[in-house]
Amino acid sequence: MSVNLQTPIDYLKGVGPNRGDLLRKELGIYTYQDLINLFPNRYIDRTQYYKINQLQRNNADVQVIGKIIGFKEVTQKRGKRLVANFQDETGTMELVWFRGQKWIRENLKLNKPYVAFGKTNWFNGKFNMAHPDLELLEEHKKNLRSGMQAIYPSTEKLSNKGINNRVISKIMQQLFIETKGIFVETLSDNLLSELKLISKREALFNVHFPKNQVLLSKAQYRLKFEELFYIQLQLIIKNLIHKSKIKGFPFEKVGNYFNSFFKNHLPFELTNAQKRVLKEIRADLGSNAQMNRLLQGDVGSGKTIVAFMSMLIALDNGFQSCLMAPTEILSVQHYNGLYDLCNLLNIRIKLLTGSTKTSERKKIHESLENGDLQILIGTHALLEDKVKFKNLGLAIIDEQHRFGVAQRSKLWKKGPPQSSHKKDAKAIRKKYMTARPSTYKLLIELQVENKKNSTQVESILWECLRNKKLDFKFRRQYIIDELIVDFVCLEKNLIIEVDGDYHNTIEQKEADDLRTQILNEIGFKVIRFTNEQVIGDIDNVLNYIVKTLKSLPSGEIGGASTPPHILVMTATPIPRTLAMSVYGDLDISIIDELPPGRKPVKTVHRYDKNRLNVFRFIRDEIDKGRQIYIVYPLIKESSAMDYKDLMDGYESISRDFPMPKYQISIVHGKMKPADKDFEMQRFIKGETQIMVATTVIEVGVNVPNASIMIIESAERFGLSQLHQLRGRVGRGVEQSYCILMTSHKLTNDSKTRLETMVKTNDGFEIAEVDLRLRGPGDIMGTQQSGVLSLKIADIIKDNNILQSARFYAKKTLLNDPALSKPEHSVLLETYKQLGKYKNIWNYIS
Ligand code: ADP
Ligand code: MG
Repeated sequence: MSVNLQTPIDYLKGVGPNRGDLLRKELGIYTYQDLINLFPNRYIDRTQYYKINQLQRNNADVQVIGKIIGFKEVTQKRGKRLVANFQDETGTMELVWFRGQKWIRENLKLNKPYVAFGKTNWFNGKFNMAHPDLELLEEHKKNLRSGMQAIYPSTEKLSNKGINNRVISKIMQQLFIETKGIFVETLSDNLLSELKLISKREALFNVHFPKNQVLLSKAQYRLKFEELFYIQLQLIIKNLIHKSKIKGFPFEKVGNYFNSFFKNHLPFELTNAQKRVLKEIRADLGSNAQMNRLLQGDVGSGKTIVAFMSMLIALDNGFQSCLMAPTEILSVQHYNGLYDLCNLLNIRIKLLTGSTKTSERKKIHESLENGDLQILIGTHALLEDKVKFKNLGLAIIDEQHRFGVAQRSKLWKKGPPQSSHKKDAKAIRKKYMTARPSTYKLLIELQVENKKNSTQVESILWECLRNKKLDFKFRRQYIIDELIVDFVCLEKNLIIEVDGDYHNTIEQKEADDLRTQILNEIGFKVIRFTNEQVIGDIDNVLNYIVKTLKSLPSGEIGGASTPPHILVMTATPIPRTLAMSVYGDLDISIIDELPPGRKPVKTVHRYDKNRLNVFRFIRDEIDKGRQIYIVYPLIKESSAMDYKDLMDGYESISRDFPMPKYQISIVHGKMKPADKDFEMQRFIKGETQIMVATTVIEVGVNVPNASIMIIESAERFGLSQLHQLRGRVGRGVEQSYCILMTSHKLTNDSKTRLETMVKTNDGFEIAEVDLRLRGPGDIMGTQQSGVLSLKIADIIKDNNILQSARFYAKKTLLNDPALSKPEHSVLLETYKQLGKYKNIWNYIS
């Protein structure tokens, strides 16, 4: 019989409670399973043994057989170091320890043959090895060790406590002995044979104790594939559920607006990428499911026209649409651009922003509600409760990064109410029990478990809800979607949750918010009470529940509405590699082609001392009629330092480019919107030649005549920001330039950023470098996705394995969506196991 892999690590021979504690704390190893999944960082070839007189001054990892013939302590600036003389028949070297000296002295034996392994240094005319990995030759020979030696991740604390690589290797070996190396297969036979993968058992053995390089590679490939495969499986399943669950308006036809625009008014030929993306959007809009699509395209790739033509499809089907942009300037620009096009087609379009006058605002509200207004452009102002559409069918969000998920979901609710007014709880229940069969089974198990173990507070509340006649029937521990909620009133779609003490942690709060959001999106209202509230004043709690119930429309499905189709546009590309593995619920379209005839922006890096040359160049360009941006970093809105830089810069520019020959605009975040707008407009109209600004101009501004972008202290900007800024130029027919000004002091990272900018204009390539520099943690959406907790695969280096994993996950699910076929039972089983022991299900309850 094989050992249960969920056995606590303490039970493994050679571990025990003390080491167990360390392994838990330092490496997160709780069980046998966790230990098997501790994958080596690297491997070292240990087929070679060196004589001391063969050592080279190359700082390589080597192993040497020899004897310790004595210890000495050497006092140094801080503390002492322990030095051992280590000898073989060809010479002597030193072994050195800076920490853990007591343990070393007590445990190492003199004059016995050891194998010392580590990096050698040349110091004071001798080789030495600091903190070597030491093993008695006798033991060394006995070990289940192959040529390749695995090097495991470690921490300082572990090595101080004597848990070095050799010890880890040893307990790993013990684990293989206890389990007899029998590990159940976790991929299906057809995947194994189609991809020529080695078995799980063989892979695990060879990843820890590789017999040779070839087997090691095979083992790594198989394990990486498996890891990525299950993540993809999970994401695709999520996406499928979303599609089957969230109904959208089918826009069945492409009508007059679209066709006449396409035939008569399209100002240019669409690029192939634009055509392809429009096709993808049309397919989405025509299906029964709600579209939830991310449109990525580099600055200037022509997303706006795609957005506009999508809106025309909505209009053709009798629906309204809206476009929301993050800033006033941007929405005005969108409005101005689209206004002309709408005029050609007799479409009624309006602009709504924070500065829209009250009277105009009223008119807009009215015409929106009676359906007279067809397209609304604006800022966050669109999200206000007062803004109600008659029938919003498509909502477009420009520059996704500026808006959060919460805002996206706010837009959802602006759709018209659903027509079905079923009071029948059974129908409602059926509608929301949408978990797929495999999950459903798991949910039932959890539900039973939860009912058995309900907390005292839950029991108290349940008694009241059950007995005190509230006129409404409640159910407890009820499955909705893939969640289990504490109490629900199905006639009113009201959910009541009681939060235990552990709800105070930030992670739990985030999980709770996510839950609430999911439930809101499918039409439930959620109210939460803490333990204290229920115990402290149950009457108050009940009153509140009654009040809420009464306020909810009766018989309707919680005021739920059919959400509009959503198109999110972003010019900050998320690397393809990451996007594929991060977004479960968003489909992705990419415009990867610029309109023809664009001249790529020439980018150069200049040091501050060359400023005079740069200014001469600017003067020449202005004489030719061009306009210039000069941008200063603004890390924090509030930082006085940054403003000083900006104002100093402005002054020095004013000196070098004196009035009246030169006119200069200045725009920064501390200005009033009206002043900002005034300055912007002067520049847009060409009344000023130079625009001195902070990053407020980063997003979207379109002044085709501006051909030079100078970025001051460019080393202080992130890559994606630099790229966004550069996107402000290169919009006209003239050759444009981006000049990155820096001081001489540059870190390696900032050098890489600058070099990347000079080398390429491709936003996706830049995003990949950015990802490499910053890691996926900073990129939105990664937190929930599991890419951060990858154990063996690397989201960047293993991109090709990821593609293949995604392909096979799709293929598998297309052929068997519920993984119910017998040949997939192993996949279903593993998928469920992952759910139980990893945190995939942590949002369930
Ligand atoms: P972004 O993707 O950055 O939002 P825009 O939609 O603002 O880009 O387009 C940038 C410019 O390119 C606009 O002036 C637009 O009219 C023009 N444009 C868009 N598509 C094409 C095309 N297919 N051919 C020529 N010009 C185009
Ligand atoms: Mg744009």
